[in-house]
Amino acid sequence: MKKTRTFLALSLLCASLIGAPAFANDHAHAGGNEKAQIHALLKNIVNDNRGFVKHHKPGYFKSLVKGQTPRATVVTCSDSRVHTHALDRTPDGDLFMVRNIGNQLATAEGSVEYGVRHLNTPVLMVIGHSSCGAVKAVMGGYEGIEPAIKKELDTLSVPGKDAKNDQEVMDSVAANVNRQVEAALAKFAPEVKDSRLAVVGAVYDFRNDYKKGNGKLVVINLNGETDQAKIKQSGLFAGK
Ligand SMILES: [Zn+2]
Repeated sequence: MKKTRTFLALSLLCASLIGAPAFANDHAHAGGNEKAQIHALLKNIVNDNRGFVKHHKPGYFKSLVKGQTPRATVVTCSDSRVHTHALDRTPDGDLFMVRNIGNQLATAEGSVEYGVRHLNTPVLMVIGHSSCGAVKAVMGGYEGIEPAIKKELDTLSVPGKDAKNDQEVMDSVAANVNRQVEAALAKFAPEVKDSRLAVVGAVYDFRNDYKKGNGKLVVINLNGETDQAKIKQSGLFAGK
């Protein structure tokens, strides 16, 4: 039983972290053996960057060379399905991104603090997401996993136990976001008190579990307020 749970947890985590959807571009999957696959993939990256350079004139980078004044510090999961273009059309120089498994403060506290206290971003956003492998791993148990990964899962705590129950997974994703917001509010209490910082918790819902549209960024917590009606009343997140 214990072994099965461990295997399940590993499968869930691996499927999410390094599994099939890791590289969404079809051409990355070309090639018969692993070596050819890696070659194709690297070629793909180099080509994509070549296109990026071609479409962005040197002037585009001028302001970036001077320094950064991002609008938000954003803590998201490392999951390959979660990316900046889902929440910002021009993320360059705009979002101070902190990524780790399970979108945690505990495993990246220094990076988050740098964004808030040195870059003085007025917003700290914690974003969880549909089908989070790290959350599922914690729900199912992760005995036997590599020590470094275990260390980063040990700081996650979620209420759900059944990783195959979609509703329980989503509830756990939301609970984790709320827990991270709570930790951020405690850590950055002076900034929040002076209205220099807003701490926002959200879920990137690409599965459409909230029934607000696939890919919707659903705000579930605003400075500790989790009542949807009150969050809407703030006027900041109007709409469906
Ligand atoms: Zn995740």
